[in-house]
Amino acid sequence: MGNTIFSKIINKEIPAEIVYESKNVLAFRDINPQAPTHILIIPKIEIPTVKELNGKDHAPLLGEMIDAANIIARNENISESGFRLVFNCGDHGGQEVYHLHMHLLGGRQMKWPPG
Ligand code: AMP
Repeated sequence: MGNTIFSKIINKEIPAEIVYESKNVLAFRDINPQAPTHILIIPKIEIPTVKELNGKDHAPLLGEMIDAANIIARNENISESGFRLVFNCGDHGGQEVYHLHMHLLGGRQMKWPPG
């Protein structure tokens, strides 16, 4: 199962610096970090984009992803200073990997609007 590089990370076929793992969620450091802390939080099941999500079916999974983000932010000592959570969706959203992922960025002052 799985066509993206993230499936290979889930299956431990390629290495990643994993910082959190539960039954349904995996988190690892982004290979091309855009901030001192840049972690990707992903579901283990394959969901390509935010467009495939709906509240009825995916609220628990999204809740687990947010819980993971808060745990990791505390572990990374960025919880107090603050951080940014980002889902890129589709072409104009800047999505490159079509396995749902939430970026956790922190450790520096973020700017707005994003590029
Ligand atoms: P997005 O543009 O939202 O699809 O983000 C995909 C992210 O995955 C980018 O920030 C990449 O740097 C990151 N990425 C791609 N391949 C890997 C990998 N093997 N390990 C960790 N992060 C990766």
